[in-house]
Amino acid sequence: MRTPIVAGNWKMNKTIAEARELVNALKNDLAPLAATDQVEIVLCPPFVALPQVAELVKGTPIKVGAQNMHWEAKGAFTGEVSPTMLNEICDYVIIGHSERRQYFGETDEGVNKKIKAALAHHLKPIVCVGENLAQNEAGQTQQVVGAQVRGAFKDISRDDARGIVIAYEPIWAIGTGKAASGAGANSVIGLTIRGALADLYGEATAQAVRVQYGGSANAKNVTEFFAQPDIDGALVGGASLVAADFIAICKAALK
Ligand code: PEP
Repeated sequence: MRTPIVAGNWKMNKTIAEARELVNALKNDLAPLAATDQVEIVLCPPFVALPQVAELVKGTPIKVGAQNMHWEAKGAFTGEVSPTMLNEICDYVIIGHSERRQYFGETDEGVNKKIKAALAHHLKPIVCVGENLAQNEAGQTQQVVGAQVRGAFKDISRDDARGIVIAYEPIWAIGTGKAASGAGANSVIGLTIRGALADLYGEATAQAVRVQYGGSANAKNVTEFFAQPDIDGALVGGASLVAADFIAICKAALK
């Protein structure tokens, strides 16, 4: 059985004071949910708020993740944040979010380097894959997403692969209010993503890896995703900024 994982990607939102306010609004509801071990819950604030958020959830089963990192441990990379800086305070790190790929030129090769660096520094990667609207409409979803998975997992061992979380995030669904259908997302995850993992590592590993859905997931539509056999939770953007909505989403993952 794969334990669902719900992660809130706050993106470039929330000052330190606002982050504190949001965690305080979430904590009392989310800590008992995470304590059931039936759902893993991860908060991914911006870098500057990470230490504060980590401090606030300390002693609870709520986990903390970063939204990005560099693959080098240290050095002359102005403006970047390294895995050695993050592993003191984070459990997870989001890698290859489509906004990073789209606006900051991240490639499958860079994503692969970051995954290896995260694993080497005991951070658990949440690796984002997904096709854009033109690719979707041209019937290229399987080809695009399959290539992203193969690129991300290049030269990664079977044991390491099992600890990686994948987020299937169709780009056309992110922040648009137009979520994929549960059945559609399940089919891409089951056939394309688990299919690529099965080619690389065999069926048992393909079935062991957790794969989330992301893209305009909210308190209303999320039950449709969580009811699907191949979907293991959600990566949530906008709705993770509203305490009541994120709590409802995490509760829905238990059922
Ligand atoms: C995301 O940021 O990964 C995301 C899925 O955003 P939203 O839920 O707002 O579409």
